[in-house]
Amino acid sequence: MEKIKLDVTIIGGGIVGLTVAYQLKKKFPTKDVVLIEGAPFLGDHSTGRNSGVLHAGLYYKTNSLKHLLCLEGIHLWKKDLCPTLGIEFQECGKILFAKNLNEEEGLHEIWKNAHENGVKGLKWCDSNTLNNISHFVHAQKAFFSPETGILDVTGAVKKISEAFISIGGMISKNTKVTSLQKSDGFLLKTNDFEIQSKIIINAAGLESIEIRKQLGLNDLEAVFVKGNYLSTSQKIHHPHLFYPVPPKDLKGLGVHSTIDLEGRIKFGPNTEDVFVIDYNDSGMAITTMVPEIMKTFKGIDQSRLYWDYSGIRSKIKNSKTEKIETDFWIQTPIPGYIECLGIESPGLSSAPAIAKFIINQIIF
Ligand SMILES: Cc1cc2nc3c(=O)[nH]c(=O)nc-3n(C[C@H](O)[C@H](O)[C@H](O)COP(=O)(O)OP(=O)(O)OC[C@H]3O[C@@H](n4cnc5c(N)ncnc54)[C@H](O)[C@@H]3O)c2cc1C
Repeated sequence: MEKIKLDVTIIGGGIVGLTVAYQLKKKFPTKDVVLIEGAPFLGDHSTGRNSGVLHAGLYYKTNSLKHLLCLEGIHLWKKDLCPTLGIEFQECGKILFAKNLNEEEGLHEIWKNAHENGVKGLKWCDSNTLNNISHFVHAQKAFFSPETGILDVTGAVKKISEAFISIGGMISKNTKVTSLQKSDGFLLKTNDFEIQSKIIINAAGLESIEIRKQLGLNDLEAVFVKGNYLSTSQKIHHPHLFYPVPPKDLKGLGVHSTIDLEGRIKFGPNTEDVFVIDYNDSGMAITTMVPEIMKTFKGIDQSRLYWDYSGIRSKIKNSKTEKIETDFWIQTPIPGYIECLGIESPGLSSAPAIAKFIINQIIF
């Protein structure tokens, strides 16, 4: 089998692997940087199966990686990557609302947390605005986050991969990493060829924990949570993203409405514990989500809602204590091996900052 010698190998062609690859090659143009993707297409897993929202950073624990990298990430998307590479985004803003008195306390907690996180421009909705949004949702009280936006994710994957290749980066699709060992740097085997690499960056999303196990790191396990989306054939337009106060179990942000750049509306995601990566409809999504949508949103014809797609996020669990980590896990447990685990939401928003955070740790 052919063996290739490289400076850096990135495993995983989702938004994290891609932004790392591009920014790394830009910073170190003389180094060989290769991105390995197991699937035939880039961004086909979590990256292509989410809400496409650039989060402003309202919910995350102050000073956590999620908080810091989300705020820096959306700044980098809006001021650097999107204008430089011609990636489309829209600052459509988001309304976060309490449906009833019981949810108001939760809304105030998020408002307070968002301020502690330094989120700019937040504004309580006055009675006029509440009146306007009451055409769309059952809202008792609400605030507006103007910095929350939406991104053309497919366009981002395409433009970043093209930019990476144009500066001398290499991408190998349909190439699954089958083994990884520490030996004179790292020896990585794929279905096609072998690589001897000085540095490995594990950005393999849902499979990143299986990859680290190859290096004898067995202290973490993956926990998968599936989220389904329903779309509608009704011609309705939401002027903003509408998010209810999240459920207390904190597994997700609650079934919300998002729009894409063409103004199409979708509802989701719900949260469903799963054990395998299967994006098909389990048949449960419509039954469980429709009642939630009907009690949250107005003017929806439930007979015109249909299952559209699903995504799966990976949380990480300590194998011994069974404790679920709530923050991103970006670490270097072995010199030269950097891992990005538990990159669930707001991973899309944070990706350019995750890349910067990783690249700042690399010294050749
Ligand atoms: C339902 C849902 C909604 C979300 N909504 C949002 C949102 O609105 N805003 C936001 O900021 N974030 C959101 N997120 C989170 C965001 O989608 C993820 O954080 C982000 O996409 C993670 O990107 P990634 O590159 O780490 O993983 P992925 O996109 O999953 O990429 C990993 C890649 O690694 C490849 N791979 C795996 N194993 C191997 C192997 N052995 N060899 C080679 N390649 C391999 C896979 O094929 C895959 O392409 C959401 C996530 C979900 C699931």
